[in-house]
Amino acid sequence: MPWFHGKIDREDSEQRLLRSSRVNGKFLIRQRENNGRNVSFALCLLHNNQVMHYRIDKDRAGKLSIPDGKKFDTLWQLVEHYSYKPDGLLRVLTETCPRPSHDSVVPVENPYNFRSNLELPKPNITEAMPMDTQVYESPYADPEELRSTTVKRSDLTLEDGELGSGNFGTVLRGVYQMKKTQKIVAVKILKNDDNNTAVKDEMLREASVMQQLDNPYIVRMIGICEAENLMLVMELAELGPLHKFLQKNKHISMKNITELVHQVSMGMKYLEEHNFVHRDLAARNVLLVTQHYAKISDFGLSKALAEEENYYKAKGHGKWPLKWYAPECMNYLKFSSKSDVWSFGVLMWEAFSYGQKPYKGMKGNEVIQMIESGERMSAPADCPAEMYNLMRKCWTYKPDERPGFSVVEPRLRHYYYDISQ
Ligand code: AMP
Repeated sequence: MPWFHGKIDREDSEQRLLRSSRVNGKFLIRQRENNGRNVSFALCLLHNNQVMHYRIDKDRAGKLSIPDGKKFDTLWQLVEHYSYKPDGLLRVLTETCPRPSHDSVVPVENPYNFRSNLELPKPNITEAMPMDTQVYESPYADPEELRSTTVKRSDLTLEDGELGSGNFGTVLRGVYQMKKTQKIVAVKILKNDDNNTAVKDEMLREASVMQQLDNPYIVRMIGICEAENLMLVMELAELGPLHKFLQKNKHISMKNITELVHQVSMGMKYLEEHNFVHRDLAARNVLLVTQHYAKISDFGLSKALAEEENYYKAKGHGKWPLKWYAPECMNYLKFSSKSDVWSFGVLMWEAFSYGQKPYKGMKGNEVIQMIESGERMSAPADCPAEMYNLMRKCWTYKPDERPGFSVVEPRLRHYYYDISQ
């Protein structure tokens, strides 16, 4: 991670932080000299042109904390937490202080405090966080793994057993041989039977959208492989669609569901910032890497907006997921990040009701009438009031009055952090 500067001394860290931009909250983490066997770190934070140094200790169970602070399993989690909340620091962490370009981090043992079964006595928390998974970091984070959109068939091995199936055909598990590493992947395989060029074009359009996106909470495309079939090679999200997972796992806590929908909101905030509209946001299109790590998928209907536009106008009605669509989509064929927010409210409802169908038993036109009359779905059983209030905000009739993801995401984040205390 760019904020980890390895074993540098206090003076060096101050020079680095005071170099170029002096934004309050700029930070880095350095490793301190070892005292005996214990590794300790320092969080160095810029505040009004002064550098504050907070010691980060590792306790006997391997947990990391600043003195009297909350304990974390990894430095990543610590940085993420203090980026949201000052929680005893003078201010929140804002900007990463980059390492000098000539600098390579002195390799230290387990610098990010990766959990290792050999090293640690059993920690109380065994949840694997997103950053502990292989797919958290972009496959292209390594500059030597060049970003090419084509995958050679000889680098791809397909395995037996379907992960799922959709409009295009089936999705299989596979192994992709990259330059340095192997990656387990999901491969969407276009069925060849009817040689339908429209479906092929749709899949290529999906690939071209996905290729432009790089965010930990969005399924990344690895490439397109044109061989016996047209294949879309993607990161694998092994646990499959969110709604099915929750239907089968009713023991999952509300906190865990909040964590997952917050991750979806982070992915959607990224899309909003990059002027993409998803147009098919629903629990069926959120895939789980682990029980604590969700990714947005299925960009078949997605559109990149032109710079000067903030919505996409569809040419006509299509085979649309009406129950997830905002009124302006139906009435004016207008799609924007705000209409994605409406769908996100429905997705939240699905998640907090453990994968139930929204507007169960109702036909599309009945749903439209219900929305037009001002009525909305009622709260799922046991849904926290804060979360239902947020769904209702997402279902604000007028898009101009509806919050964007830049508002929805921090609301979820704060609520999640409040219930995690
Ligand atoms: P789709 O055609 O995108 O709707 O995908 C159909 C089904 O394939 C999904 O519902 C998932 O069960 C599975 N699937 C699609 N993409 C992936 C992925 N990247 N990782 C794991 N399973 C996937």
